[in-house]
This record gives sequence, C-alpha cells and structure tokens, in this order.
Amino acid sequence: MDVIEEIKNRLDIVDVISSYLRLQKAGSNYRASCPFHSEKKPSFFVSPRLQIFKCFGCGKAGDIFKFVMEIEKVDFKEALKILAEKAGVQLPTEKEKEGFGEKARFYKICELATRFFERQLESKTGKKVIEYLLGRKINMDSIRKWRLGWAPDTKSSLIDFLKMKGFSIDEIEKAGLCFKKENGEVLDFFRGRIIFPIFDLNSKVIGFSGRIFENEGPKYINCRNTLLYDKSRTIYGLDKAKKEIKQKDFCLIMEGYTDVILAHQEEFQNAVSVSGTAISEWQLQILGRFTSNLFLCFDADFAGDQATKRAIDLALQKDFQVKVVLFEEGKDPADIISENKENFEKATKEAISIMEFYLKSFFSQYDKNTLEGKREIARRFLAEVKKISNEIEKEFWIDFLSKEISVSKESLLKEMEKIKIEDDFLGKEKEEIVFKNEKTKREILGERLLTLLLKLPQNLVLIDNERIEYFSPEIKEILGKLKEDLKFDPKSLSEKAKELFLEASLKSEIPEANRDKDEITREINFCLKEITKDFIKEKLTKISELIKDAEKNKNQKKINEFLNELKFWTEKLSKI
Ligand SMILES: [Zn+2]
Repeated sequence: MDVIEEIKNRLDIVDVISSYLRLQKAGSNYRASCPFHSEKKPSFFVSPRLQIFKCFGCGKAGDIFKFVMEIEKVDFKEALKILAEKAGVQLPTEKEKEGFGEKARFYKICELATRFFERQLESKTGKKVIEYLLGRKINMDSIRKWRLGWAPDTKSSLIDFLKMKGFSIDEIEKAGLCFKKENGEVLDFFRGRIIFPIFDLNSKVIGFSGRIFENEGPKYINCRNTLLYDKSRTIYGLDKAKKEIKQKDFCLIMEGYTDVILAHQEEFQNAVSVSGTAISEWQLQILGRFTSNLFLCFDADFAGDQATKRAIDLALQKDFQVKVVLFEEGKDPADIISENKENFEKATKEAISIMEFYLKSFFSQYDKNTLEGKREIARRFLAEVKKISNEIEKEFWIDFLSKEISVSKESLLKEMEKIKIEDDFLGKEKEEIVFKNEKTKREILGERLLTLLLKLPQNLVLIDNERIEYFSPEIKEILGKLKEDLKFDPKSLSEKAKELFLEASLKSEIPEANRDKDEITREINFCLKEITKDFIKEKLTKISELIKDAEKNKNQKKINEFLNELKFWTEKLSKI
C-alpha cells in the first residue's frame, strides 16, 4: 500500500490535530480557534467523516499532511516523516538515507550532540555532575527522561565528534554548537557546563541550554537562535506536558528548567518553563491551544519586573485566566516540590487570581485606612482593572475594591475613567484577514442554499428537475447525489464539488441561534427564488443578444424562435 494512504488509514485527523489544538465538539465535527490567523470566534473546523480540516476565516484547509506542514512550518517530506513516526509506519530506507533537507540535517546534529553530552556523564567529571544533580533531588529517571548531559571543559571535543560524523564546521556553527574566535580558532560553544537539551513539540532536540558547573561565568547560557531553535518560540517541557495540561485544563508556568524537571518527577506533569518570567505573544498562542488557565509559579518578587508585567497584561488581554501560586517566603518552587510535594499541591490549589495578587501586594505597600493609602491603592489597582477586557470581571473587582477600602463604586468608576493606559498596551487589534469574494451572487446563494438543505434535507424535494438546472455545475452535482442518497460517499464527487460539499456540510453543523425550522425553510425558499430570478435574468440577457444577432443577419425564423423563448422566460419571471 502507498505509504501516504497507510498513514492516513492509521491516523485519525481528530487525534492528530488535537495534539496541537483544543478541539471542541460541534455536531458531528470539531471546532477550535484557528492556529493560522488571529480571530475571536472559532472558525476552524475538523471533519472526522471527511478526514479534513477547514478554517472559514482564512480559508486554510486540507488533510493531516497539510495541517502538519502548516503548523510545523515544514515541507511535505518532513510532514510525512513526522506523521509516519506517529503512525508507526516505516518510510522507505533509501529516502531515509537521503535525509530531508537542511532542517533534517540540523535535527541530526542536535540528536548526535545530545547523545554525545549524555555519554559524557560517564566520565570522571560527569559522575560528579550526576552527584550534583542527585543532590538537587533530580533522580536518575529524570536525568534520562530529560536527556541531561555534560559538556566537557575542553576546546573542541564536540566539534571533533561531529566532524567525525560527517558534519562541517559551518553546519556545526549554524546549529549553535561552536563559535569562531577573532584569531580564527574554533571552540565548542558549551564547555564545562551541564546540558539541558531543549525539545520541540515532537520531543526532538532543537537546542541546548548549559548551566555552569564548578566554573566562573553566567549561570545559564542558551545556544543562539538557529533554524530550529528560537528562544521566544520555545516552551520547555511542553512536549511532555501538553497532554496533562489539556486534561487538567491548567498549566503551571515555572521559571527554570530544574523546576520543571522536579515538577514532572513529582507528578505535576502539566509544568512548563518559558525560560525566565516574560512570556512572549507566540508562547501564549501556543499555550492557548491547550488551556486558558495559567498558574504562575514564580519567585514572589516577579511582579516588580516590567517584562513579566507586560506578559501578564498580554495574557489577560487575550482572555487567559492568570493565577499566582504563592509560596512560603524565601522558598522557591523547586525547594518546596523536593521537600514535600503535598505542600506544593496545596499551594497550587490555593492559587489566587492575578488581580487578588496585585491587591494583596498593594495592601502590603500602603495603609488602606488612611486617605493617602486609599488613593494610592485605588490608583494602582484601577489601572489594572481598566485593562481587563471582560466587563463582568471588571465590575467584580471594582465591587471588591469598593468594599475593601470603603469607597463608593461610583467614585471608583469616575477615578478609573481618568486613568490613561499606555497606548502600546491597548495596541491595535490585529487586522483580521479579509478575503476578496470573487463569487457571483448566484454562487453565493447556491452555497447558502446547499448549507440550509443539509440542515433540513426534507426540503430537497423543492429542487425538481427543472430547478436543478439553475445551479452551478458543482452544486448541481452535489444536489443530484443528495437527492439519490442523503448518505452518499463524498469521495465520489469531483474535486471542486468535494470542496464545496465539505464547506457546506461543516457550515450546516454550526448552530443558528434563535432560528427554528420554519424560519430556515423560509430562507430556503427565499434563496431558491433569488437563484431562479437571477438565472432567468441571465437567460433573458442572452436571448436579447441572440435576437440582435439574428436581426443583423435578417434571419426571421430565428428571430421568431428567440422571441417565443423571450416571452416564455419573461412570463416565468413575472410569476415568481
Ligand atoms: Zn484561519
């Protein structure tokens, strides 16, 4: 069997897509917010019956291969590789030998380097590294699972190893694993460091971070951005956490790699790290595919950091629920998890909303019983409230503040009016993509009618042998099949008709608020009437032209023939 067919047979599009997005059931289909364009209402649909996805916002559509190509930004060959692996289908070996382009080469370098670093743990210093990690409560299983390693403090042992494996200095440099000094000497990028490989969503190594060990220098260094690795587009641990995040419907965001490793080790497998405390817009978008609940497990003073603050504002603006997990003073999350995981669990259960957290910190800074204190607390807290997009939530916090500082809601609302939020915060709504509609009126009406008929198939009787001629060839084809058998196999349609049918059948699943069967039937009749009118008008224009031609040629017989036809259609039009 064809490899592509075999993969398609083994994988269900719903499973493939839901490993990237949160899908919600919508009739016999699934829907989600489109990952390919910015939108407020979900218009991305997946049809298990047709094994196809389609976004009605930006128009992206296709099968599992198309989806993986788009979401992973890879070419067909790489999508094939990813899906073959998922499906457990062996790809032809000769193709494997060839490799699949530059990206595949980079994946290979990263994988080989990871193995090299892992093996170095068996060296004398490597054993000391293991001792150190065990001392930090990271056990052997975790060391293996997260593929931690050791970069020896030598000039070029990794370079030598990779060169032996057939990679050039240029490639090694592009993969971020070596650098050239001004005098031309080439050195390993990571020397004398504990290595934390960084994985993509498919658990493939794409980059590295190195922690200092028994040496001087910055605590952590990351490899520079490469073709595979982009710091602002990577979420450490997400490959291992995504399933649990979706299941628990919340995500623990931690500061460091070791926090995440310890959390997973103690069965908090919904923990990730964004390498620091500033979450990028892209990272939020990715996390949003799995949950809209973020629990921040940062050091208590994080709110003082402007970058973190902006990230939180952004998350709130994007309708995430942000909570803060509070820990005993002076302790970081890693300490608490490794000391007593029940305490950590308790802390996550008692997480407070970010607004409550702000209020708490303002109360600790100002005295809410003095006029000056009330004014400062209100000024600072209202600035946060003003940024909330949800009106109900806004009112809730104003009410809350009003009670806490004994100031009327009216006064607080007036004060909030006066507060100016930086322009760059409110920003401009990302332009929603608008597509030029090149369809004719009749085509649009025809597609709408098809959607409505799929909703209420009993109305198919309205499409008799005469009326079916009024439609475009594709819709005519679909209507013909539907009249024969409502559950016909869409594969038997022509390509264009299949596309139209998918669109209409997906649309027909979208519930229409407050509309009953009678109203839908009325709309069906309306569409049918308009289509008929349009068809006849077009016919009349054509006949008039034919008459003109016949008059030029003085062909009386033809003229009479066309005049009769003109009369026939004019009468028909008047009866509608
Ligand atoms: Zn879209």
